[in-house]
Amino acid sequence: MPPAHREVVIIGSGPAGLTAAIYSARADLAPLVLEGEPSSNSDQPGGQLMLTTEVENFPGFPEGVMGPVLMSDMRAQATRFGAEIETVKASRVELSASPIGIWVGDPVADEPTHTADAVIISTGARSVMLGLEAEERLIGHGLSTCATCDGFFFRDQEIAVVGGGDSAIEEATFLTKFASKVTIIHRRDELRASKIMQSRAFDNPRIEFAWNTVVDDILGDDKVTGMRLRDTVTDKVRELPVTGVFIAIGHRPNTDLFAGQLPMDDNGYLLTHPDRSTTDLEGVFACGDVQDHTYRQAITAAASGCMAAIDAERWLQSRHD
Ligand code: NAP
Repeated sequence: MPPAHREVVIIGSGPAGLTAAIYSARADLAPLVLEGEPSSNSDQPGGQLMLTTEVENFPGFPEGVMGPVLMSDMRAQATRFGAEIETVKASRVELSASPIGIWVGDPVADEPTHTADAVIISTGARSVMLGLEAEERLIGHGLSTCATCDGFFFRDQEIAVVGGGDSAIEEATFLTKFASKVTIIHRRDELRASKIMQSRAFDNPRIEFAWNTVVDDILGDDKVTGMRLRDTVTDKVRELPVTGVFIAIGHRPNTDLFAGQLPMDDNGYLLTHPDRSTTDLEGVFACGDVQDHTYRQAITAAASGCMAAIDAERWLQSRHD
């Protein structure tokens, strides 16, 4: 089968990709969105907001909105204007080719699955894990990166959240709706989270803190039964009995697909031109968390998706002028 050609293909379906889809669909570019495939709790179409509870700072929602609801509404808005969405992952791209080649499935197939004049990259970032062997064994069995997905299972139980940033504090606060006690395990003696989130957590009687503490192991054969914790000041090791552990220690950009083809910074974030979504390659645009390690907000991701769609549209137009 010859590859299907599109003016615009969007890779990724968080707020950046879906906003780019809404704008390019309304510009009559009939974009195709490769939204990804669910492969774990922390990796699914819709991006990180699928793992979030209440979003209180997205303008237009005075009472807040649940992350997954916001994403499903953005998706519906994109398809309403004609964006086509496929639940697949791109396995290979040839960004320097003209037209650009995008493979889905077998990455060594001769022909790309799709070709495109312009590609908008919005593959976002993913949860960082601690790197313990137990994480592979216990993910989905008491170990989670998603309080929204799994909090319900821990009603009246004692659980822990690892991390000291906004994600950790937000998840811990949400989890107190269910759990009888949430211990926040943080490697330092002060939180990175914003002051308003901190004070909410400090005021919450169901939240306790384990300061200067690292996780040596997560215990349990087929489900979480506890954690082995080490105090970094005294080196003392102790066990904390918990039935659930939520990891919330940050994110990495999803840029493996573009290695060697696009310039990246030391942490793997794509480099775009100042105040633009353009990259060093003609017809290749990047938006959202995949190129933003500073703001990393849903609203900034959505805004940069809008920029990418407009940049792509103008670039396509300039080729016809
Ligand atoms: P983050 O701000 O990078 O915080 C990561 C936390 O995990 C830090 O406290 C860090 O410790 C700790 N950590 C990192 N690696 C670790 C390891 N290997 N072992 C133990 N602890 C480790 O990440 P985030 O909380 O996911 O937030 C990301 C961005 O999204 C931030 O800009 C945040 O403001 C934003 N965000 C906003 C909201 C909201 O406004 N509603 C909600 C969630 C996230 P150190 O502090 O010692 O480095």
